[in-house]
Formats: sequence, structure tokens, C-alpha cells
Amino acid sequence: MILSSYLLDVYDRCPRRFAFERTHESRTISPLGLLYKAVEGSLVAADPAQGSRDAIMEVTARLDVAAGDHLSPISAVRHVDAMAEVIALALRARLGKAKPVEPVRVGCHEWQSGLFDFHGSLHRIILASHLDDDSLRSFAHAWQTIGELAALERPITLTAVLVGAQRGGRRHSHWSKGFLHPIQRSLRFGRRRGGADGFTEGWKECWREQSNIKADVWLERMRNDDVLDDLIVSRRVGYSGSDERMRQARADLVQIAPLMETAVDPMSLPMRRSSCDELGKTACPWQAVCFAAKPTEPEDLPHLFQSRGMLREDLISKMCQGRISEHRPSSPDARTRPHPLDA
Ligand code: SF4
Repeated sequence: MILSSYLLDVYDRCPRRFAFERTHESRTISPLGLLYKAVEGSLVAADPAQGSRDAIMEVTARLDVAAGDHLSPISAVRHVDAMAEVIALALRARLGKAKPVEPVRVGCHEWQSGLFDFHGSLHRIILASHLDDDSLRSFAHAWQTIGELAALERPITLTAVLVGAQRGGRRHSHWSKGFLHPIQRSLRFGRRRGGADGFTEGWKECWREQSNIKADVWLERMRNDDVLDDLIVSRRVGYSGSDERMRQARADLVQIAPLMETAVDPMSLPMRRSSCDELGKTACPWQAVCFAAKPTEPEDLPHLFQSRGMLREDLISKMCQGRISEHRPSSPDARTRPHPLDA
């Protein structure tokens, strides 16, 4: 069977969701999911900004963006595009160009890594609203870290890009928002060391997508204002083959994989209600089926879901052989739709 940290994470959270996603996919993607695809596309492209734009075009050609109530879908895409371009340039300047990690065997299974290889150093790229002790521990304990360590048997680095909280449909951070001088129209983000005090009332808030400031200029201003280093945080996680946590993770993989293979009939599997609306994550996209007042199947909601035409693992297998391309989310909340009760 094809295993990945994403699939294990989904199965852990809700076997029913895992079963849905074997045969169907949501027709929508969240702005965060789109941002992940843009940033990941930029990491392996010759031109990071172009890679980011290409990834956005590829995804939005297939999926609708669940923009929410505050922005139109096109405005949400422009916002993600503008932010991703700057993040792409910053990551490339810091880490260089990445290549995907080759699949490895784990027992009789094939492990598809979600990491990126920067000159021999493996990085897990995380887009987080903020980073504190709780979120860092959560990232470190997740399948996306423990599973990758156990499968690849190599140390990895967690690289978190802090993209700010989402309010009013937009991410509030220096990647996306700055201040313009009332007269000179110069862009600033914060006090410069030894410089003038912060901002007077005359400084105007400026969203990058509403300005004509190029991404490299925007990034240079962030660097000049000393706000860049705090927004990309890396933590190395070592690997030791004798570590009990690795032994446990490998044992879990072997135990869980057959259970995943038997998860084929979603509606026969119990709901995991604590996973439907996890705090800090977008609502599970399958709520329209699970919370429907009448018996409902994904086929009954063709405007929300589409069939993959084959089992997901077969699709990934063909994709790996270069015969087909498929959009794969990086995290369980990468695809989403508004909560039915909010609609
Ligand atoms: S809505 Fe809840 S029960 Fe249904 S698939 Fe999603 S997480 Fe599982």
C-alpha cells in the first residue's frame, strides 16, 4: 500500500474521512491549501515566483477556492498569489532550490514523503499562523514529523513560515501587509533599529495585492526593517534508530496500514465528531455528507465532490510513474468548504 504522513494523519483523525478520500475529492480548496500548493510549487521550480504562479493556476483550474464570506474567490486568489510570491523568494534565498524526496520502502509498503530535500537536508515546510510551545510540540509529534523520521531514517528540519492569523478573509502578516508613508509612499513594516518611532496616523495600510510593489522590493523592505528573520523559524529534529519513539512509530505503521486498506465503505465507519471542527483547522469538507438530514452520498452532491475514477492509492501510483498528475493536499485542512450550518 502507498503510505504518506498525510494519509496516516487523515486516517488517525477520522477513518470515515479517509475512506471518502480514497474514492472522491472535494471540488473546493481552502486559501491555506492554495497557499501550501503555491509555496511548495515555488520550492522546486527554476524561478520560484513563476513556480508559485503556475501552481496556483494549476489548482484553480481544477478546484474552486472556498473564500468564505469576506472576499470574492478572485480576491482570495490574488491575496494568496501576492503573499506566496514573497514567501517563495524568501525561502529560496534562505534554503536554495529543493527537490522532492524519492519514495522508500517501509516493510511491504511504499512511503511517499511530503518533505523537501534542500542540498541533502530534509525540510518539512509548515505554514502556521503563529508558533508557540503548544503548536511546536504539535508539529513535532504529528505523523508529518514522526512518520517521516521513522520511514526515511534521517533527521529532518521543521521550517515554519509564520503567515499570520486569518481575519476578514486575509492573512495578517508582513508577507501580505505593510504601511505606506503618506507623502513619499515608501513601504515600511516596523521600526528600524535606532531609527524613528513607529507609525503616525498618516501611514496607510497597504495590502500587497492592491499595490504595484514587486515581490523582490517588498522582501527587501521586510529585510531592511528586520522583520524577516522572525517569520521563518527552523528547528532540527534528530534521528536515532534505537529511539523507542521510532520503534513505536514503525510498529504503528505496520499495524495501521492493513486497517487503512479495509476502510472502503465510509458510511459503515463511525463518525469522529471531535475531528469534524477541530480548533485551528478548517471544517472537514465531508460535513455536507455526514451531517445531512437525509441519507446522503458524495454522488448526491456533485457540486461539492467528484469521483477520482479509481482508488486514491492507484492514482498516486500512476502519478509516480509519470502517467497522470493529481493535486495532493499537504495537510488535512488543505481542502475545505464552508460549514453547512454557516452557509
Ligand atoms: S465530517 Fe466528521 S465524521 Fe464526517 S468525515 Fe469529516 S471528520 Fe469524519
